[in-house]
Amino acid sequence: MLWKSPHPGLDIPETLTTWQWAFESPRYAPTHYAAKENLGSYVDVATNKRLTYDTVKESATLLSTVLVQKHGLKPGDTVSLFSTNSIWYPVAMWATVRAGGRVNGASSAYNAEEMAFAMKTASTRFLFTLPASLDVAVAAADAVGLPHSNIFLLDGQRNGFVSLQNLVAEGQAYFVLPSWQIPPSQTNRDVCGYLNFSSGTTGLPKAVMLSHHNIIAQCHQLKQLQLVSSGKRYTILAVMPLFHITGLVRFCHYPVFMNGDCIMMPSFNMETMLKTIIQHEIEELILVPPIIIRVVRDPVVDKYLADLQRVVKRWSSGSAPTAPEIIQLLKKKFPNTGFRQGYGATESTACISCHPPSHYDYKYAHTGGLPCANTVVKVVDLDDPTSELGTNQTGEICAKGPQIAMGYLNNPAATAETFKGGFLHTGDVGHIDDEGLIHIEDRIKEMIKVKGQQVPPAELEDLLLGHDMVEDCAVLGIPDDYAGEKPKAYVVPKASVEASQEVGQTLLRFVQEKKVKYKWLSEIEFCTAIPKSPTGKLLRRILKARDRES
Ligand code: AMP
Repeated sequence: MLWKSPHPGLDIPETLTTWQWAFESPRYAPTHYAAKENLGSYVDVATNKRLTYDTVKESATLLSTVLVQKHGLKPGDTVSLFSTNSIWYPVAMWATVRAGGRVNGASSAYNAEEMAFAMKTASTRFLFTLPASLDVAVAAADAVGLPHSNIFLLDGQRNGFVSLQNLVAEGQAYFVLPSWQIPPSQTNRDVCGYLNFSSGTTGLPKAVMLSHHNIIAQCHQLKQLQLVSSGKRYTILAVMPLFHITGLVRFCHYPVFMNGDCIMMPSFNMETMLKTIIQHEIEELILVPPIIIRVVRDPVVDKYLADLQRVVKRWSSGSAPTAPEIIQLLKKKFPNTGFRQGYGATESTACISCHPPSHYDYKYAHTGGLPCANTVVKVVDLDDPTSELGTNQTGEICAKGPQIAMGYLNNPAATAETFKGGFLHTGDVGHIDDEGLIHIEDRIKEMIKVKGQQVPPAELEDLLLGHDMVEDCAVLGIPDDYAGEKPKAYVVPKASVEASQEVGQTLLRFVQEKKVKYKWLSEIEFCTAIPKSPTGKLLRRILKARDRES
């Protein structure tokens, strides 16, 4: 059975790049239809510095001109953005797509090894970073052979490196190039403009190829369901990282399309978040479950409760399931607010489904909402993916629509496996109820989600197998009240090694030294064998069931 979106179909532009759609199209670009004093902006939460969209347009135009003419950026080149949230991040992003390049967001917490892997996977040719991450960026660049002259600072100064602001100033001396056009034989569905990392159903992180069409479509799909109080400017707080798909769509692109303000938070701080919500009167918050848990449990919220209750109209969550008890506590604390959920993945440019205004209600909060416009969903049998299931039957959720990604860069096998017949096979287990609402129950893919961030078990297993005390191992996600899940390793020690608390501690430390914090193991359990199929495939589900029973 196929479930079609209940929303009216949308006409999504097919010939524009995201740049042309956001800054050059008389119909969609706020710099064309809005008066200068009414233009939205990216705002720095700490300094209140505002980059209005005409400044963004001008800066990105000059930046792309210099990147092309002086530094040789070509269409299809990858520009990696390795940074915490900053108002300059989207400027580098827009400059890249204006020149026909591909934007690649990388976690600002990566260490040099992780960043080198990311750069290799995304074929990075240029890199923008901040002074605080420069040493890591340089070490990663050295590891993959990227010249230092191709590394720029998004903001700030460091000897020997050119800043984005310097490049923009240099651009004044150049003849401004027109924006890159999609070749007449192609549409914006055929051109990749963004590479975001996801481990997908199995293995190491892969670069998901998102087309210009994917991003434009998702913004149109979201706008169709957006409420903004009359007389108010759309305003959003960028708490989640810009390198994640939600950040890329919701905080870099969507605010321009809405001609709204996006307040950039470089790092999470509860009190700053609460004060900013009140100061900017932010009606809708896009958060991840661990932050929602903080909202219901952190006593600091009570200090601002009356103002928050006045300002906030609805909470929006995604990236991982939100526990029903937390949803109830949130409703109790903020009885006059609504709640909406977005369900999807990097491979679906964020939302496959979400709640429309008719469903901004806590009674639907445990569901993933209804399919977005122009989207079709099916549920397939877990043992036989060719068999489509019906209402209330549990299987793998699959989706087709204009937001479904092009595939994985340089990985035809994973692409063929995940994007079969135009449908994204999400690796999520769930069902669709009588009202057409999607329910997510479990995950068959390997991916572990810690505070909404992906932790591919294969990455930790590869690392542990490289340790001379480890014979075999498997990493699983185990439930955690706050983070959602935490990685736990089952380890078979080498014959010469006696399993002990000390060995366990050594291995925990080994992972801590090599990996970003959210990937750290929460525990290690020693065992004598890892369950495997006759072909040697790790039987993670057996191990998971065993773990649940113990
Ligand atoms: P990512 O690509 O990092 O966005 O991760 C995508 C995965 O996160 C999905 O395949 C789901 O397993 C999980 N996920 C995303 N949104 C939700 C949601 N609203 N409820 C439950 N799980 C979710």
